[in-house]
Amino acid sequence: MADPHAALTEIFGFDHFRPGQQEAVEGALAGRDVLLVMPTGAGKSLCYQLPALLRDDLSIVVSPLVSLMLDQVESLERRVGGKVALINAQQDAATNREVLERARDGELRLLYVAPERFASPGFLEALKEVEIGCFVVDEAHCVSQWGHDFRPDYFRLGDAARWLGADSIFASTATATPQVARDIAERLGLDDPVSVATGFDRPNLTFAVAPSKSSSHARAQLASALATPEARPAIVYAGTRKQTAEVASNLAADLGIKVVAYHAGLDREKRAKIQRSFMDGSVDVVVATNAFGMGVDKADVRTVVHVSVPQSIEAWYQEAGRAGRDGAPARALLLAQNKDKGLHVFFIERSEVDEAELDRVAKRIFASSPDGRYDAEIGELGSNPDQVRAIVGHLARAGVLSPSPAPTDRQIGRIDGAYDGRARSLCQTSAKQATKARWAAYRSVWHFVETPSCRRVAVLGHFGDRDRDAAPLVVPCCDVCNPESIADVVSVEVRATKKGAPSRGRSLAPRAALADSSELDEAIIDLVASAHPQLGRTRAVQVLRGGRSKVIATNHYDELEHYGAFGDLHADDVLGRVDALLADGRIVSSGGRFPKLQSPASQGARR
Ligand SMILES: [Zn+2]
Repeated sequence: MADPHAALTEIFGFDHFRPGQQEAVEGALAGRDVLLVMPTGAGKSLCYQLPALLRDDLSIVVSPLVSLMLDQVESLERRVGGKVALINAQQDAATNREVLERARDGELRLLYVAPERFASPGFLEALKEVEIGCFVVDEAHCVSQWGHDFRPDYFRLGDAARWLGADSIFASTATATPQVARDIAERLGLDDPVSVATGFDRPNLTFAVAPSKSSSHARAQLASALATPEARPAIVYAGTRKQTAEVASNLAADLGIKVVAYHAGLDREKRAKIQRSFMDGSVDVVVATNAFGMGVDKADVRTVVHVSVPQSIEAWYQEAGRAGRDGAPARALLLAQNKDKGLHVFFIERSEVDEAELDRVAKRIFASSPDGRYDAEIGELGSNPDQVRAIVGHLARAGVLSPSPAPTDRQIGRIDGAYDGRARSLCQTSAKQATKARWAAYRSVWHFVETPSCRRVAVLGHFGDRDRDAAPLVVPCCDVCNPESIADVVSVEVRATKKGAPSRGRSLAPRAALADSSELDEAIIDLVASAHPQLGRTRAVQVLRGGRSKVIATNHYDELEHYGAFGDLHADDVLGRVDALLADGRIVSSGGRFPKLQSPASQGARR
């Protein structure tokens, strides 16, 4: 077998391995399972490409990211023509058949496959006689419920790898906490894997978090952050598709430059065109949802801005990490509005599984599978696609069924067991755990945003990377260590007049249940004193839990300090404290047909 060092130079043009690469490459060459956690831009794909090219069997790479696969195949074709190919739904059937032929003839070393292929019964069968080397599961965090991008259709990949007799299962992800990493190893059934987790620090990135008081404030801050040409090219991440268009047109007007909006709702041609114009420099700023960036390997991005808080630290760091891949100074800026909490709470509550829905979806899946296999449109199984996917995940964990990878609007798989009392209770436990995981992500991301301590230390700690002295910083560390590094953003004033007190950056401590109510009590008293117009009992609870309604938006309650701070508490618990404070006289009721909450001082004057 050829020498990995020689191949590194010959094929990839590098004269030495980057941290962690050699361990992973040697593990895969020796036929060991590998668990690789390495951030984007640190040379992750080389860790499986190199051993695959050196081995004399066929390695398979499974990735949900079509554009990333295309990019990798194209770039490998330039280096080692004729040894790498791709099978996916975007290619016509004849081309896919031809690729399979070449795999069977032993011509290929690397075959990239979209996960939904494993749903086609003929596909595994067609590869049965081929000797399989590494079975690479890319974006492996998708297999874990504790990861931020859980996909039930990833469940079968471990089984597929074993069925094909793969010599090594290679799990690779750019984003995994130690807990998610353990879960990946368990879900894929890795056997004593070589574990490599490295390089989470990005010494050329300045991290900055700045509070925004309102959307118009955020607009002005964003324009200021991207005003100079040195701050560009830039990617701006927005929370929703609608927001991308708004932010893009505002920014174009504010700076007088070309800005394009990008999201998964655009047709494929349009998306490809936008990607190309960003890559070739004809457009300097893209405002996008999280659909943008996978496989967009543009090295000279100088700024990544988030104009809404992502739902987890993992999601934020993965996107922020697209800045400065060339090693030159770059900035990752997060603009945080208090009202983002409401959106997070909304998404978490929407994905919560209620028991009746669990029974209904299970019943419909069984009804649609007389022969032990199901294949149904998501819309036929339930009205909320997120919830249907979540329920299928719980049913799979309970051993009731095995989902196959499927197109996003379908559910395909096999029935494995009965949906009896035991299965039902396993599903409920699994659902509770999923909700817990989402609230844990909510608390960590807001704790990160609201705690004024070094951002770098906080992020590396989150990923369990203790090796933060490895490389000296070439830029200011963060907004906390070097406040001058975001002076341009912090100095921006709110243009429109706004109600609501500015956030004092209250820290959001992890809270499992309402063990100590003093923090909540103080927030209620504070809220009652600061809300104008005054709030009723249930509206106050809604504000504290980050509810969304027209009344809340119109009155700017979502800009108040305590908005959404208690989203992880049950409404009844919060209302219980409001009533207890009323009973104690620490807050009072205005009485009348629509009673409002008031501070005792304000009412005392009337008595
Ligand atoms: Zn710092």
